[in-house]
Amino acid sequence: MSERLQRVEQALEDWAIRNGLFGMKFHAGMEFQYEIASQTVLFPILETENETTDIDFTQFFYEYGCEYDVSCFILSLFHEIGHHMTIASFSEAEKDISLLDKGMIKWVADHHERNYLYWENDIEFAANAWAIDFINTHMDIVKDLAETLKSSFAELYTDGQIYEIVDAFNEIALMEDIA
Ligand SMILES: [Zn+2]
Repeated sequence: MSERLQRVEQALEDWAIRNGLFGMKFHAGMEFQYEIASQTVLFPILETENETTDIDFTQFFYEYGCEYDVSCFILSLFHEIGHHMTIASFSEAEKDISLLDKGMIKWVADHHERNYLYWENDIEFAANAWAIDFINTHMDIVKDLAETLKSSFAELYTDGQIYEIVDAFNEIALMEDIA
């Protein structure tokens, strides 16, 4: 398993480099995350479980101008890459304020409102804005990612799960084509 996981990580690194997205590592983990210190994008090998958050997240992307119907997995991956691309534009003080801000948001009871407040946090918003702009202007690279994920995940899964994931990667289409 671990050798196969390494091949997925390597496939993502190769994808990033051949498309001019430099300086980050990819590591299989439990959830989507960007580790600033090690410049590493963590990604889950299983679908994330929180369906309501996934729906909110996708909705957020379209409300803020994403023109393509892209799976939540790919949106999430680009969000983390967006952190890698934008984090250097924030000062240490701004990062501290953002953290405090996120601490306060945790107390908002309504999960929908809490999700939106979180993604409107300066650092989160910068990552999403980068991701939306990149997806809208580089569909060839997004499709290359979908193909890369499809072939490397096919090696990881042997049951019906892969079909669900592969289907999600096949869904990329212009929003206006499916509206
Ligand atoms: Zn984030």
